[in-house]
Amino acid sequence: MNTVKIGNVEITALQDSPFLMNPRVLVPEHADEMLVEWGHQLDARQLLMNSITTYLLRSEGKNILIDTGVGGRRRPGMPPGKLDETLAAAGISPSEIDLVIHTHLHIDHVGWNTVEYADGKSRVFFDRARFMIQQIEWDYWMTPEMLAEPRNLHLVECVKPLEGTGRIDFRTGESAIDANLTFVPTPGHTPGHVAIGILSAGERAVIIGDASHHPVHLVHPDWQVPLDRDRELAARTRAKLFDEVERDGSTLIAGHWTYPGMGRIVRLDGKRSFQAL
Ligand SMILES: [Zn+2]
Repeated sequence: MNTVKIGNVEITALQDSPFLMNPRVLVPEHADEMLVEWGHQLDARQLLMNSITTYLLRSEGKNILIDTGVGGRRRPGMPPGKLDETLAAAGISPSEIDLVIHTHLHIDHVGWNTVEYADGKSRVFFDRARFMIQQIEWDYWMTPEMLAEPRNLHLVECVKPLEGTGRIDFRTGESAIDANLTFVPTPGHTPGHVAIGILSAGERAVIIGDASHHPVHLVHPDWQVPLDRDRELAARTRAKLFDEVERDGSTLIAGHWTYPGMGRIVRLDGKRSFQAL
C-alpha cells in the first residue's frame, strides 16, 4: 500500500530510487551481527535493498512534498532518481506542489529541487512551491567553506539557487507547519535534522527522515552509523523517537526503509519489529 490516511491527511509514498545498502557501511561495528539477523534479506553481494522515498502529503488542501530525493543528475555512487516519473504516474505535476519541506540537506533529500532543462539552464523544478528549511540546517551547510567542497556540489546545484527566489521559509525547532503537521527536531544525523509529526482527527504518524536508515535500529537503536554527523546524539535521538512512536501507536514512515516504508512498530517475542501497512 503506498497511500495511507492519517485523520484528514493523505500520505502517498513516491519512490525516487531503490538503493542498495551495505551493513558494513551502515553499522561497521555490528555488521557481522546484522548480516546474521538480516541474512534472509541479503542479496548475493550481501547488500540490503533500501529505498530513497519521498512523501506527498495532502493537508488542508495543499500538496506538500517531504524531501525531493537524489534527483535526475548522474552522481558518483548514487542511483539516478525518477521522482519526475513517479510524480507523473501519481497524476501530479511539479507545478501543483505548494510546499517542499526538507528534513535535512543531504544529497539524497534535495536532488529534484532543480533540474537542468534542454536549454542548458537549471531551474527550480517545483516552480510554484515554497520551501521550508530549518535555519540551523541551512546555517550549518550553506557556508562558503562547505559550498566549496566538491562533495557538496549538490548544495550548489540544488539548494543555493533557492536563495534568491524569496520562496524559502526558515523555521526554528519544533514549530507548526499547518493545523496537522509539526516539525519534530531529531538532531544527530545532521545538526538541524527534523522529523515531521502528523496529528489529525486523533490519528498520528511520524515521517522520521534519516533518524534511522534501516529497521535494524528498532532493536538496536544504539548501533552507531558513520553517516550520522554526531553518532551518539543520533543514537539517543532515534531511541527516543521509537519510544514515542511505539507509546503513541503512531504510524512510522521511513524514507530509506524498504519502499513504501510505512507501517507500525509491533512486538514479536517481546522484540520490536516493523509491520508494513
Ligand atoms: Zn538520506
